Amino acid sequence: NVNYKSSLKLYKRAKKVITGGVSRNTIFRRPHPFYVAQAKGSYVTDIDGNTRIDFANNMASLIHGHSHPVIVDAVTEQMQNGTAYTLGSEVEVEFGELLVERNKEFEKIRFVNSGTEAVMSMIKAARAYTGRPKIAKAEGAYHGTYDFAEISQIAEPQNWGDINKPNSVPVTYGTPDSVKKDVIVFPYNDIERTINLLEANKNELACVLIDPVSHRVGMYPIEEKFLLAIYNWTRKNKVLLVFDEVVTYRVTYSGAQHLYPVKPDMTALGKIIGGGFPVGAIAGAAKIMSVFDPSRKVIKQPHSGTFSANPVTMIAGKTAMQLYNRQAVDKINKMAAIAKKQIQEAIQLAGVPVVITGAGSMFRLHFRHKQPRNYRETYQAPEERKVIVDLLDYLFLHENLILINTFACMFATTITQVEVDRLSQSLYNGFK
Ligand code: PMP
Repeated sequence: NVNYKSSLKLYKRAKKVITGGVSRNTIFRRPHPFYVAQAKGSYVTDIDGNTRIDFANNMASLIHGHSHPVIVDAVTEQMQNGTAYTLGSEVEVEFGELLVERNKEFEKIRFVNSGTEAVMSMIKAARAYTGRPKIAKAEGAYHGTYDFAEISQIAEPQNWGDINKPNSVPVTYGTPDSVKKDVIVFPYNDIERTINLLEANKNELACVLIDPVSHRVGMYPIEEKFLLAIYNWTRKNKVLLVFDEVVTYRVTYSGAQHLYPVKPDMTALGKIIGGGFPVGAIAGAAKIMSVFDPSRKVIKQPHSGTFSANPVTMIAGKTAMQLYNRQAVDKINKMAAIAKKQIQEAIQLAGVPVVITGAGSMFRLHFRHKQPRNYRETYQAPEERKVIVDLLDYLFLHENLILINTFACMFATTITQVEVDRLSQSLYNGFK
């Protein structure tokens, strides 16, 4: 006797004015999008009164779950004093200090409004600094929707091309050929092929863009020897190494980059550093970041944004990140480790093969015997995809759990053993 009538009704209204009924395809789902009445901590209640446990946390952005009381108080107070000015605010400086303090790699920082914008500004900064046009990115990796960053974020086998030189596959119809030409696509975790591709383009490359635990590639930490090979190659050839830590910053107190003996020249941040509000940031070496500097005679990258560093996002982000201290990082990572172990046992008990990949508070399930190492190995054939989508629907509609549609979970600090038990039990039920 589940009831979705109100959501269906609202969706019908939405379709009349919003293309496809949604402004972000992420919330488009079967049988129709669902609309929220209330969300608190790890629980979300839709307008028909169904309450679900949230393991997606707005695509990994709500590190403290929904409406954390300390963040709500801080934001409410700020809103009494204005929400955006054509002037600066102290909280921007304070939040900048806090983030720069957390990473020795972050000598300077700039705030923007989304992860897409952060990656875009970072790529443009790399070009502005080096004077070179090309970027290299991993096949399958998602980096937001900037033309260059979205090349080969998803590709069907017939479009992959030769593994020695993967095709630059545009995702948006009408993407200019010049964009494809300026993006070199390399296979994740494949040293020889990747270095060959970089060598062939070394005089034109501005940067190599890496997500150290790329969700779409398969959400396994990049292999250290692969990352080191790229890092050493970039040092030798004066090409920048830039990280997309929009998702992975949560993994340690200072991002996934602190799992590796490398130092990215710049890092794009987003998601959790907004404390629940739209955000992005570019952080990195002062020398490179100086391309943004408006006090210079030549401004190599003029850079503005109407809502960049607005005080509401800044206070929310600052509060969230103060709460996400070393103890909180340890605690959430331990909770995720417990969840992974329990899930592994539950699914094995149901007689289904599973490999759970991830890092820190994020993990993804692969219903396989062997862990994939790159996008082509992770790729799910349509039959496999169908089983997964059906199972996700079952979990959402019958077990009242919200997961990410790649079969991933992004924990919040509000998740406890109670929610983890529900997750493992529901997965077991789903396979029975
Ligand atoms: N990079 C990565 C790795 C992401 O996962 C995302 C968003 N899912 C982005 C960039 C883009 O961030 P946003 O949606 O805030 O534009």
